[in-house]
Amino acid sequence: MDNEKVKIIVTVGPASDSEAVLKKLILNGVNTFRLNFSHGSPEYFSRVIRIIRDLRSRLNKNVSIFLDLPGPKIRTGILPNGKLNILENKKYTLGLNGDIPVLGGVLSGIPLKGKISLSDGKIELKPIKRVKNGLLAKALNSGLLLNNQSLNADGLNYEKTYPTEKDRAGIKFGLNQGITTFALSFVSKKEDITNVRKLVGKDSILIAKIERESALNNFDGIAGVSNVIMIARGDLGLNIDIVRLPLVQRKLIREANKRSIPVITATQVLESMIRNPIPTRAEVSDAFMAIMDGTDAIMLSEETAIGDYPVKAVDTLRRLIDFNYKKLAPSRYKIGSEEDALIDEVASLSENTKIRNIVIQTEDGKNAFRLSRYHTDANIFAITKKANIADLLTFGRNVIPILAQDIHTGLKIIKRNYSVDKAIMVYDVPQGKKSKSSIEILKI
Ligand code: PEP
Repeated sequence: MDNEKVKIIVTVGPASDSEAVLKKLILNGVNTFRLNFSHGSPEYFSRVIRIIRDLRSRLNKNVSIFLDLPGPKIRTGILPNGKLNILENKKYTLGLNGDIPVLGGVLSGIPLKGKISLSDGKIELKPIKRVKNGLLAKALNSGLLLNNQSLNADGLNYEKTYPTEKDRAGIKFGLNQGITTFALSFVSKKEDITNVRKLVGKDSILIAKIERESALNNFDGIAGVSNVIMIARGDLGLNIDIVRLPLVQRKLIREANKRSIPVITATQVLESMIRNPIPTRAEVSDAFMAIMDGTDAIMLSEETAIGDYPVKAVDTLRRLIDFNYKKLAPSRYKIGSEEDALIDEVASLSENTKIRNIVIQTEDGKNAFRLSRYHTDANIFAITKKANIADLLTFGRNVIPILAQDIHTGLKIIKRNYSVDKAIMVYDVPQGKKSKSSIEILKI
């Protein structure tokens, strides 16, 4: 039952795409793999999906996969040697066929008084003048630019329709591969998600990446139509004043917890482990704070995609979670519905009886997330017969998905695989359009 507390999501890339490394990552506690559709070809992702699925069944582990769609994000292109050493004060052309390749047209609205930041702000440039197909700009600092890095600036001409052409291609590819979980980048409003929902169907799991001020302003609408929230701190930290970021993160975690929606804290979590075998003190403190604030999951990006220590990074995060997750005092919530009241009773019953195994039969995952946000150290076994809901459950703190056709089979799996012989059982039996809920203490 270790590895099922605060969940770990990793981004797959050249540093982690071999069977040997993927196996080590699963055994070290990864719960979900992110395939970033901004990098890599369909052939590449098909191969990775095949390896992960094969390992999942051979190792009998609950791991899920999601495809992260780029949204209207503007990125730099492919560089001659895959990299460019940018030097402070040197001038570079940006644009189609420029020193820094960028798709034509997107730069024309950037004011010359403004600033351009590349690679989540690691490199900044000052525009000097417009040139054919782009801009001439001076580097304000030195840094190594890699392929396909983020480009942010005021006045960029973003694609206005959501989802973009590239997102549609990703959705088509994902659905063909049997992927039903998609992360949506740069959403600004509820309709961005409902537009995608029309393409993927009601059963798909949609993760809304919060990385724009407009998404913060429209959070209520976005949360109302999304299955999971991601605090995408990389771009969010560029699109709002960075000093606001920690408080915004804390508020978003609370808001997601209040709504019983799983929330992921992402980006630069163990950034220095891209090159170093141990993280900085500030990084472990940051991840600790996210755990204490009640995040459901933590996501690694470059640490596992292109870093030198992908397995060590996961091992460090797992040990940090295991040592600290119990230190968050259980939370309590205002009761807004009968379902809330039922789950509140379950949380009290577990505390009063010290029974730390709770089995929830669930159609949509919601009751498991209602309980998960109480942050008790109880194991929440969530039995579902739907594979997409089992995938959704992999995001919930303390939630262990059990994919089984009926409750008896589910209980057998729990007894056999987790050696559980007594549990609080929460039934949620559909009866036509209604459902009947009940709680009991059960010897398995
Ligand atoms: C982020 O910006 O924090 C993020 C998760 O998105 P991406 O890695 O696609 O830039």
